[in-house]
Amino acid sequence: MRKPLRVFATCDIGEAINLLRGRGYQVEVYGSPEPPSKSHIVEKLKSGIDGLITTLRDQVDAELFEAGKGTLKVVAQYAVGFDNINRADANRYRIPFTNTADVLTEATAEFAFFIMGDLARRLWSAEHLTRENKWGFWHPYLPFLGDEVTGKTIAVIGTGRIGLAMIKKCTGFDMNILCYDPAYQNQDYVKAIQELQGLRHARGISREKCWIRYATLEEALGAADYISVHVPLLRDDESPTPTFHLFNERTLRMMKPTAYLINTSRGPVIDEADLARALREKWIAGAALDVYEKEPLPADSPLRDAAIEDRCRLYPHFASAAKITRLSTDPDRGMAGRCVKGLIDVLEGNYGGDLTRMPYVVNKEAFAK
Ligand code: NAD
Repeated sequence: MRKPLRVFATCDIGEAINLLRGRGYQVEVYGSPEPPSKSHIVEKLKSGIDGLITTLRDQVDAELFEAGKGTLKVVAQYAVGFDNINRADANRYRIPFTNTADVLTEATAEFAFFIMGDLARRLWSAEHLTRENKWGFWHPYLPFLGDEVTGKTIAVIGTGRIGLAMIKKCTGFDMNILCYDPAYQNQDYVKAIQELQGLRHARGISREKCWIRYATLEEALGAADYISVHVPLLRDDESPTPTFHLFNERTLRMMKPTAYLINTSRGPVIDEADLARALREKWIAGAALDVYEKEPLPADSPLRDAAIEDRCRLYPHFASAAKITRLSTDPDRGMAGRCVKGLIDVLEGNYGGDLTRMPYVVNKEAFAK
């Protein structure tokens, strides 16, 4: 009898684990909700693991690939972002890794949209006022007012899957849209949105005719009321247009003092020390963040400064945290389903064993003939 395939998951991804067990896999799930230490993963790999399920909390690099040498065949990442995986190391060891793109696109985009509204309309401050019994009277402008989202201009930075989904949601709020993406310009999508904007205006759904177009970064930052970031984290040696600290003193100062920054991409895309200064000194009106340079957000982070709490919304890397998105075992709906499908494709040699044809394998370049 063939030895069962062994899988180690660095965290519990729910019912989808049982799909693997049902196929005869021997699956071990790390028992604690906190991430395992790297040395723990190394020890597991040395014991002979065929497939490793990881999250963005795990640093996956040569040390792990070396520990898995001889048995490890795939790393299945439970996320769309994979900046925690050293791609060059994976390619050197010829280990394919998969991600869970697409299934979290809408959930992440709607979260970005919601925290934009939360920030702009000051929902956090308004709820505090009510809960703390400081709501003394109804008044035309006291104790504060928020800013509208409808009819304003948004800059969408990164027009990949999530950026395009964000554009779609903003279209429903009659927003004008500036797009910036140095690597991928989806003009067909822009044209379709223009048609939609034209129809909404022609049929009396939108009072003004809205517009959308690609722009330079400088133009987008200088003209937008809202800036929403949807880029992967790319360090200087990973791309001709890296995104590490794309938002820094120089670029934050390009924004209007009335503009808001929303980041649901990756923390290191923003220089947090510069952002905290921008908020304190009011170079910009506010920021809503889901991701941080260091996660969880350290207790002494300048972003926690009480002086900026009314204009700085902070969330715990929560954008994809919706039930179906996270846990559905259907690979077309949930991260869990897509994660195990990616793993199964590799371990069971689907697509004729051709890694370049497997839809969820990311580093296909390592296996091209
Ligand atoms: P994607 O690859 O489809 O899109 C990313 C886009 O960014 C691409 O079009 C790319 O050309 C563009 N880009 C690259 N460098 C750029 C630059 N310098 N300036 C502007 N644009 C640039 O990825 P996606 O599925 O849309 O996901 C985007 C990122 O969102 C992921 O990499 C991940 O890090 C993050 N994310 C976060 C959460 C969360 O929970 N907060 C959830 C899902 C995804």
